[in-house]
Amino acid sequence: MEEHQFEQSGWTLEALLPAHEGAALEHELAKLEQQVAQFEASRERLSPEMNVETFLELMRLSEAITTSLSRLTAYAHLWFSQDTQSQEALGFLGRMEQLSTEMQNRLLFFSLWWKGLDEEPARRLTAASGDYAYYLESLRRFRPYTLSEPEEKIINLKDVNGSGALVKLYEMITNRFSFTLEIDGEKREMTRDELSAYVRDPSPDVRAAAYQELYRVYSDQGMVLGQIYNHRVRDWTSENVTLRGVASPIAVRNLDNDIPDPVVETLLDVCRTNMPVFHRYFRLKARELGVERLRRYDVYAPIGAAEKTYPFSEGVGMVLDSLGRFSTVLADHARRVFVDGHVDSEIRPGKRGGAFCAGVLPGLTPWVLLNYVGRTTDVLTVAHELGHAVHALMAGHHSVFTFHSALPLAETASVFSEMLLTDRLLREEDDPAVRRDLLVTALDGAYATIARQAYFVLFELEAHGRAVDGATIDDLCALYLENLHEQFGDAVEVSEDFRWEWTAIPHIYAAPFYCYAYSFGQLLVLALYRQYRNEGPPFVPRFLKVLAHGGSRSPHEIISEAGFDMAAPEFWQGGFEVLQDLLDELEAL
Ligand SMILES: [Zn+2]
Repeated sequence: MEEHQFEQSGWTLEALLPAHEGAALEHELAKLEQQVAQFEASRERLSPEMNVETFLELMRLSEAITTSLSRLTAYAHLWFSQDTQSQEALGFLGRMEQLSTEMQNRLLFFSLWWKGLDEEPARRLTAASGDYAYYLESLRRFRPYTLSEPEEKIINLKDVNGSGALVKLYEMITNRFSFTLEIDGEKREMTRDELSAYVRDPSPDVRAAAYQELYRVYSDQGMVLGQIYNHRVRDWTSENVTLRGVASPIAVRNLDNDIPDPVVETLLDVCRTNMPVFHRYFRLKARELGVERLRRYDVYAPIGAAEKTYPFSEGVGMVLDSLGRFSTVLADHARRVFVDGHVDSEIRPGKRGGAFCAGVLPGLTPWVLLNYVGRTTDVLTVAHELGHAVHALMAGHHSVFTFHSALPLAETASVFSEMLLTDRLLREEDDPAVRRDLLVTALDGAYATIARQAYFVLFELEAHGRAVDGATIDDLCALYLENLHEQFGDAVEVSEDFRWEWTAIPHIYAAPFYCYAYSFGQLLVLALYRQYRNEGPPFVPRFLKVLAHGGSRSPHEIISEAGFDMAAPEFWQGGFEVLQDLLDELEAL
């Protein structure tokens, strides 16, 4: 058992920088300037014939510069998070961000040279690059789709005022939106973030009003926002498919994520065929809420929250214990975050809300910010963020370029750690309200991260095709409603106002097809968890190996090497089986 010695406290940033002013900072800045100047001076040494030693020397210098910049910007971000009201912290953050941009611009010539290099010398240098190899390969992944230099120049130039400008206009228009909601008889003006909190309100009227207000405002500008989308997706196809020759609009994103097209197809198919799991959950929610059928407004309705709270040291103790039962290596890593004083868990005015883990640099203990008040969900958050921290520590032997895992694998340890805790509590906690809370939290989260995101991408697949064929905004609205009707079946009543929802999803404007990475990450972890339950202890070293790869290989390689087949529908199906079990337990309560 854990001895419970954890107290809520602030963190120390000393491992990044001893202070935000004075000799140590000046020294760090001077060293950085000297290194960047040295790197710039190496420009003429770049050539297809250059020897491996010179190349690696430059890579190491580039790594040292990136390390130094990460140190400075992480210090600034973490300081600002702990005290968002501090003008000094804000000023320092602005200064470091500007410094980082300037330095990166001065280094840009290197990656441009590398991307332009011919196949043969690139292969020779990559082969000798050890841990840098995957990073170097990734920089060249789009090379087969790269056009001639003058063509690339024109595209860059025109994008600034073309597709880039469209996305910027979308943001400018929607960031200015203000929403009005009546709460307790009083009209309040609010931002979208503030409004969104009300979709989880206990009152059905407030939930409906929040959504109606959201789409009243978006539909008001619907024609403009829709037209921006139309241009954005037509440009996506004409540039990437027509000019560059990428196989399809979504293949551009798959290339970026380094995930094979058929794997993404399988993932989306499995999500689609498993919607009945969520339909069952929505019917259960309807029964709990005492209504015939759930409205789309009620999808995130709370159904009773547990009163029970866990003191901080007990909550942390439970998390360490559930990690430790899986692997003592992971529990020791998690403990180190506390021992090194890298957790800010206090509730303080001016501190940033929510929670995050910053795994700044390989070999450095990550920093974890929490706002712990002791609810079951707070304990789950501790499990989640400590999961990120142990992932970073497991991958600590990689270079600064290959240490962070790619987006599709970024949530592997965090969600797994949450599952370990959920399972443990379900087995040992006899308060039914706590059990219900755990199950509802897990299923609400799974819907929002897996199914909802997959359906955004299913919409995009259709919309990109139709837009090119000249679809009108009404066509796209109708298409979106069809998508929702398929998604919710007859389990949820979808009202007409949701036809505008697609105009309110920034991701489909800024980064087409990006959203499946969320479904991918979450379902992958559930599928792995399923394997763990089937296999028991032999699974553990395979999982640790996945974590230890960090971002040093493609997601596909990392998962295959651990013995799992992402191309097989059965693998993903395993994730839904975990959800079905959770749902069975909830129904039995
Ligand atoms: Zn996370």
